[in-house]
Amino acid sequence: MQLYNSLSHKKEEFIPRETGKVSMYTCGPTVYHYAHIGNLRSYIMEDILEKYLRFTGLDVKRVMNITDVGHLTSDGDTGDDKMLKGAKREHKTVMEIAKFYTDAFFADCAKLNIKTPDAVVPATTCIDEFIRVISVLMEKGYAYEAGGNIYFDTSKLEKYYVFNDFNEEDLAVGVRDGVEEDGNKRNKADFVLWFTKSKFDDQELKWESPWGIGYPGWHIECSCISMQQLGEYLDIHCGGIDNAFPHHTNEIAQSEAYLGHEWCNYWFHVLHLNTNSGKMSKSSGEFLTVSLLEEKGYDPLVYRFFCLQSHYRKSLVFTWDNLDNAKVTFEKLIAKIAPLTADRSGDIDKAEYDRLMQSFNDALGNDINTAMGITVLYDVLKSGSGNATKLALIAEFDKVLGLDLIKKAEEKAASAGNDTSDLPAEVLELAEQRKAARKDKNFALADELRDKIAALGYEIKETRQGTEINKL
Ligand code: AMP
Ligand code: ZN
Repeated sequence: MQLYNSLSHKKEEFIPRETGKVSMYTCGPTVYHYAHIGNLRSYIMEDILEKYLRFTGLDVKRVMNITDVGHLTSDGDTGDDKMLKGAKREHKTVMEIAKFYTDAFFADCAKLNIKTPDAVVPATTCIDEFIRVISVLMEKGYAYEAGGNIYFDTSKLEKYYVFNDFNEEDLAVGVRDGVEEDGNKRNKADFVLWFTKSKFDDQELKWESPWGIGYPGWHIECSCISMQQLGEYLDIHCGGIDNAFPHHTNEIAQSEAYLGHEWCNYWFHVLHLNTNSGKMSKSSGEFLTVSLLEEKGYDPLVYRFFCLQSHYRKSLVFTWDNLDNAKVTFEKLIAKIAPLTADRSGDIDKAEYDRLMQSFNDALGNDINTAMGITVLYDVLKSGSGNATKLALIAEFDKVLGLDLIKKAEEKAASAGNDTSDLPAEVLELAEQRKAARKDKNFALADELRDKIAALGYEIKETRQGTEINKL
């Protein structure tokens, strides 16, 4: 499989360190607000990557942190504490906010068919481990104390800007934004590992440490949680592109300084979802959520389909028109699959199955080209093979795409039936009641309702295509 690696800036053959096994780490959400659909674009694409790795037979262990402490509004250690901000906004404790938005995040993920990682670890459950790793960094001379805080000394590294796209210029952004520079830092790029002297007097969560009571910086959590769960080597690390600098750059700095060797081989970054007015951000307070999509009548899987139509390494513009287009295309796709479910008889055409499976693997194996994967779905529908072959392929592809294709097609087929638009309202109402009765397995009531419909001059019956109502 070919995968673009942000570290080498090229597509590479993906080779896990241990044959047949993959260790994968994902930066999880900062749980001070709902995830917006931009965040969820990253998680959808990472989910596809994980599912495709499994599809190829690899045994994946995936770990995600939950950021419930330490993340300031600027990734470069300045600004307000995000969790504290959320707690103040809602007059709740930080832990209440964390619990509420962690649950909300996984509820959104479930609606989008995003699999929960094998291990999900809140940062606040690993404070001892952070302190231990920071102590080692101090002992090794990679960290220093200044003004009560502990900083990572980036000048001790041969190369700090590992992703190349970023340079010292990027660091000036904070200054341009009018953010106060931290005078304790020896070098501009240094970052906080542990805060004791905080400007947040009302910081709720604080822990004892060798350097005084305080709390961890944001970056240390991902290094520690990854190493604790997955060991000292990591195959793939994922996140949205904004995580590359400074977050992932700092993760690499501290992990490799601690370990004394290279840490993670492949870096997978998802480009942003933007609106016409720019980047979507939680801190602006106005953003699009899965619940909002649902309120507007969209199935969350239409959003997943929308994301799969483009490549994860291209930024994607969200507009309601674009989503509507995706909705229409998705519904047409389901409508094309629906009739296949009526008759699944026949053998699998092995040659055709293998040919189309190869095309799907060529698409997904080429740096997770989901749009091409969807094109192969249409090739399946166009192919001359029978329903059994087509449905078997679609079911397999959907293990990666996660669009509930067969289930939705079956539902569509079951509800299709014949055209009922000209029937009297009374008949339709009785038919609805009968449908509910059948769903509740109340067949006596269903029969009674069928008789009432008959008394009005109509026959109602179940067919393979769904319920049909005809004039007697
Ligand atoms: P956060 O909850 O802010 O820590 O972000 C969670 C994930 O969403 C991270 O991997 C971010 O890089 C990613 N992310 C943030 N904004 C966007 C966006 N507009 N589009 C895609 N991914 C994003
Ligand atoms: Zn992280």
